[in-house]
Amino acid sequence: GPEISDAGTSDALRVLHRVFGYDSFRGSQQEIIDHVVGGGDALVLMPTGGGKSLCYQIPALVRKGVGVVVSPLIALMQDQVDALRALGVRAGFLNSTQDLDERRMVEAEFLAGELDLLYLAPERLRVEATVRLLERGTISLFAIDEAHCVAQWGHDFRPDYLALSALHERWPDVPRIALTATATEATHSEIASRLKLQDARHFVASFDRPNIQYRIAPKNDPKKQLLQLLRAEHPGDAGIVYCLSRASVEKTAEFLVKNDVNALPYHAGLDSRTRAANQSRFLREDGLVMVATIAFGMGIDKPDVRFVAHLDLPKSVEGYYQETGRAGRDGLPSTAWLAYGLQDVVQQRKMIETSEGDDAHRRRLGEHVDAMLALCETVECRRVRLLAYFGQKSTACGNCDTCLTPAESWDGTVPVQKFLSTVVRLKRERNQKFGAGQITDILLGKKTAKVIQFDHDALSVFGIGTELREAEWRSVARQMLAQGLVAVEGDYGTLTLTDDSAEVLGGRRPVVLRREPESALRPARAEKT
Ligand code: ADP
Ligand code: ZN
Repeated sequence: GPEISDAGTSDALRVLHRVFGYDSFRGSQQEIIDHVVGGGDALVLMPTGGGKSLCYQIPALVRKGVGVVVSPLIALMQDQVDALRALGVRAGFLNSTQDLDERRMVEAEFLAGELDLLYLAPERLRVEATVRLLERGTISLFAIDEAHCVAQWGHDFRPDYLALSALHERWPDVPRIALTATATEATHSEIASRLKLQDARHFVASFDRPNIQYRIAPKNDPKKQLLQLLRAEHPGDAGIVYCLSRASVEKTAEFLVKNDVNALPYHAGLDSRTRAANQSRFLREDGLVMVATIAFGMGIDKPDVRFVAHLDLPKSVEGYYQETGRAGRDGLPSTAWLAYGLQDVVQQRKMIETSEGDDAHRRRLGEHVDAMLALCETVECRRVRLLAYFGQKSTACGNCDTCLTPAESWDGTVPVQKFLSTVVRLKRERNQKFGAGQITDILLGKKTAKVIQFDHDALSVFGIGTELREAEWRSVARQMLAQGLVAVEGDYGTLTLTDDSAEVLGGRRPVVLRREPESALRPARAEKT
């Protein structure tokens, strides 16, 4: 009745203040918490950093008994439990990293009613002894974290997650809350049916971050492009610059410092003291720029990060969303800027090719990169594409780069055919393979040292591509690679044909390309290097 839910609300708010030290709930946290405290099942879709943990932690503290949290993130359990204990929450975990004594101790605490939260690795629940243990205690709720693991396209944990549907049969009166950050609508309904959560209330948070301006630019000289952005739009602002490698983190940070930007490096190769010191300076001081690998940012809650820049292509849309999401938590206008180029595509494809794991794994990685490339090459609103990826519909935002400077699409069939013909001739007539740079020089009819050395000015395709400028050919090559019209091979980014290139060469398939706005094709102004 209303009395009970009123009591629940004020208890929840009290716990939020007293235990977690926060003023108010975010988004739909309160609604979710009320629903679960009242005994209802819930399916929660919320972006990473949205605040999912409180949605089960607070009900577990308000309801009688122990909240059982199923999570595949074994490596994080110790940290999560330590963080909760530091707040005075009685938490423990059971997973395969523990020895028998540690496990016994947690089991004893559970049975004595001395725990508020018990974290379990999913495979634990398939062990009959665990189920018997749980049956001897009082359970306040089951939280199923990373619930997308149950989905078809899922993960190594899938069988363990499928087994979780049995929870409801053993504990019909205990509410269950399943949470995920990465679910399309299809995955969402699959989670509901696989976990037998048909009657659960769905809470779908918006992934929209309207104060973030999304911009994706062709990369020509990324450090200079970045500096130009900082000087023109974010002087003195706090921000994060993501680079793929430790070396480029170091170089970029040095470059920025030399050009009077207050920048610090952060990557896993720095000793832990330097890392901790740089992180805490970033959090405390105003206007610092953190140049980092993606090792930086988890759990970072700095409200006034005004920009997030990527100097390399993220591996997935999820990663991109999560990293850019660190900008503008205070709701004020912020920039998400990404520079990406041909080399990024070459590098990512190579990394996938040489990655460990089976073919299915590599295929998944490839799909993630393709989705990211599609976001980069779209002529539509970036935000519309980004939200569509997470299964949410929206209308053109009027604020992203493609909304502000609409990118036209154009018929690139002929230039692509010229490019492919060059690849073909090099192979047939010379038995050679080259990268995009040499092919562009040949098309433009440039007599570079390398062109002369290989006698490439004697090829019939030499100079047949002067209708486009070098930057435009770069854009064509990048998009060809992104669309799979040409493939990279070996360590030097040499290009070869694909099944689709044959279609284009044979005139059976037109190619639509994105035309870069003029500003994106001009080189960045020179700065100190
Ligand atoms: P998720 O699990 O959805 O990725 P978390 O639960 O880890 O997100 O929360 C992300 C961050 O936001 C954490 O630092 C958390 O303490 C903080 N947070 C969550 N809810 C609130 C709130 N109501 N007020 C202030 N901070 C919050
Ligand atoms: Zn837009």
